Amino acid sequence: MTNCWVIGNWKMHGNPSSLSAWLNEWNQLFSEKNNLPQNHFAQNYCGLCLPFPLLAVAQNNTSTMQMGAQDVSQFPNEGAFTGEVSADILKSIGCDYVIVGHSERRELLKETDTLIATKVQRALDAKLTAILCVGELAADREKGNAYKVVQQQLQILETLDIPKQSLIIAYEPVWAIGTGKIPVQADIEQMHEFIKQEGARFTKNQLEPFPVLYGGSVKPENAADIFSYRGVDGGLIGGASLRPSDFFGIFCASLDRHAGK
Ligand code: PEP
Repeated sequence: MTNCWVIGNWKMHGNPSSLSAWLNEWNQLFSEKNNLPQNHFAQNYCGLCLPFPLLAVAQNNTSTMQMGAQDVSQFPNEGAFTGEVSADILKSIGCDYVIVGHSERRELLKETDTLIATKVQRALDAKLTAILCVGELAADREKGNAYKVVQQQLQILETLDIPKQSLIIAYEPVWAIGTGKIPVQADIEQMHEFIKQEGARFTKNQLEPFPVLYGGSVKPENAADIFSYRGVDGGLIGGASLRPSDFFGIFCASLDRHAGK
């Protein structure tokens, strides 16, 4: 059984007091959990991608959780880039991950593949794990273009210098985000296989196989099924990550996967 990642994306939600309450409840749930497999963090990675200011709040309170940002500047290091947050700054406050190319940023902020490629490279250069989001719109799928769209989004991998074990792809069909709709099992499995195959091709087989997470309306009720699908190495979780009990339920589904339940 391969490793499993459960990564939350809080988007533009939360404040220091709601985060503290969340972490207290999460830690409580964790301490009450019986039969936690030994070494559970060796195979089950769990992280929360927070708005920038909350990363500093979480910094000293996340022994059971890794931490990530939801965006990173295209500009390197530090300098006169008002409003930007560089990969180096994220690394310095203890970030492990950064989400790049989320469909909301592609759509609302018109982020292009070229910009996304630069951001992924900045993250990698700072030794962050980049979570590159790809996925088709409903209209793309209806027209039979889902694979073409995802292939095009993946093509940036050709241009990047990617250290081993530093890239995660999240397949997030845009029509499944926050809608309660989920692709059928065969569609998820086929797309994950395609992403692994095309990713290997675009990186000229230089990388070890990278994890491909599924994102879009994952809940405690459907997580165990989704995590059992072929080629699914975990989930990127939006709405359900805001409630510690839901996120914990999803994390437990990843543990059960390893327990073979
Ligand atoms: C997301 O936006 O990354 C996401 C997966 O959202 P949700 O889980 O709410 O569908």
